[in-house]
Amino acid sequence: MPDQRPVTTCDVTVIGGGLAGKAASLHLAKAGLKTVCIDPADTSRQPVGESLDWSTPDLLGNLGLSLDDVLARRIGTLKRRVVVKSREGQTEEYFPFSWFSRPPFNLEIRTLHVDRTRMDEELRKKAIDSGATLVRDKVVRVERTGKHISSVHTASGEQFSSPWFIDASGFATALLAREFQLRAVDYGPAKVAVWDYFPVSDPIEATTVYVEPESPEYLDWIWEIPVSAGVVSVGYVAAGAAVKAKREQGFTLKEIFRHRLMRFSRFQSLLETATLDELNVTSFRSRVHLGVAGPNWLIAGEAACMMDPITANGVTAALRHAEESCGLILKYRKRNKLSLRARVSYGRRVAQLAGFFNSGVENLVYQPQVRNRLGMGGSAGAYISPAWGVNVLYARFKPNGLFSTMLLMFLTEFSRACQWILYRCCKSLSQSSVKAS
Ligand SMILES: Cc1cc2nc3c(=O)[nH]c(=O)nc-3n(C[C@H](O)[C@H](O)[C@H](O)COP(=O)(O)OP(=O)(O)OC[C@H]3O[C@@H](n4cnc5c(N)ncnc54)[C@H](O)[C@@H]3O)c2cc1C
Repeated sequence: MPDQRPVTTCDVTVIGGGLAGKAASLHLAKAGLKTVCIDPADTSRQPVGESLDWSTPDLLGNLGLSLDDVLARRIGTLKRRVVVKSREGQTEEYFPFSWFSRPPFNLEIRTLHVDRTRMDEELRKKAIDSGATLVRDKVVRVERTGKHISSVHTASGEQFSSPWFIDASGFATALLAREFQLRAVDYGPAKVAVWDYFPVSDPIEATTVYVEPESPEYLDWIWEIPVSAGVVSVGYVAAGAAVKAKREQGFTLKEIFRHRLMRFSRFQSLLETATLDELNVTSFRSRVHLGVAGPNWLIAGEAACMMDPITANGVTAALRHAEESCGLILKYRKRNKLSLRARVSYGRRVAQLAGFFNSGVENLVYQPQVRNRLGMGGSAGAYISPAWGVNVLYARFKPNGLFSTMLLMFLTEFSRACQWILYRCCKSLSQSSVKAS
């Protein structure tokens, strides 16, 4: 029987109401566009992404949630630096130069750790207050003619039609990337993250990363993020194959998590009273889709690219994509179609930045060659300095046309080439020392 239900029409349909979807809906609704955001609202999923990069406060400010608001309303805590600690007690600290806060950069050099449930709820309320409609449903089918999308169908049989679409359906769904079979570039192996929350009395204003210093293996690491005054988020990230091998030896995830944490004295007291009964688990793979914009659609957030969590750039990427894609819809709204230039340059910016961050951490941090030659401090520094530099320039100069996107490409490709040379040199030195011994 043909579906008799009326079609809902709007200016923009946003698929997915995670961070990228909420941010996009809020931008569009604030600009006066009739926006519908569709999300199944799976409350069993704990949102993750609690340590924010230094570019994020400005992006949140553009959504009406300033850094001072977040702190005053206890949605988050201050993050002043990143600390890398090894099991032997060696500690390295990284913080942005104070001159970033002066002209010509004028950047905020404080950033945040956030309670994601509270921050997401705040953005949801703001989107609704601005006029966006949130629909609890799941998009199951896309109706299109060639590359032009005309409507989407949901699991409950509704149909939403609009001249514009934003896909913010996240890493696991990546709806339009699948629909249009976009090419994906993977960085490193599939990984697993397991995390939980612990009460503490001594939170510090830093994200701390705990590592085994000279492991010959692919890196596994632990994060500690103070999400609110007395609570830290503690997570363990490892290659999926390593976790699978442990599971095959008969270990449960709880045992694997506890065992890794117990190697660091910091967690021994935290684990004494913890039951670990509500562990959060997810698997992911750092990935970038190519060509994430079409004539009347754009892909934002993890549906476009999955940033490795160690880069702490996923939230920045989701908010940037949301802001840039909404800007493009507003600019090309009257034409009803994005220009080829706009599509290519948006896609290039998404792919270029994600590729730069993901390949940087894979070569310099996850792989053992550079880490074991320069030490954890050296390899983290070799990644962090250019990564922060690129983010600062991006935040300051906001590339949005083809020319500025080409400049960004040149800069990131140059940095990537330097990192690759460093990786190759360390790799051949390790091979020669193995042969010599
Ligand atoms: C373990 C881990 C740790 C991380 N840590 C950090 C960090 O410290 N700092 C940082 O900046 N970033 C971090 N990130 C990244 C960050 O969490 C994400 O980049 C960000 O939350 C992405 O938001 P998103 O909206 O793109 O995707 P999601 O939050 O996944 O949202 C996608 C939404 O789409 C909905 N959806 C799915 N399918 C459909 C469908 N068919 N129809 C309609 N809706 C659909 C889902 O219900 C979901 O709500 C981390 C990521 C991981 C995996």
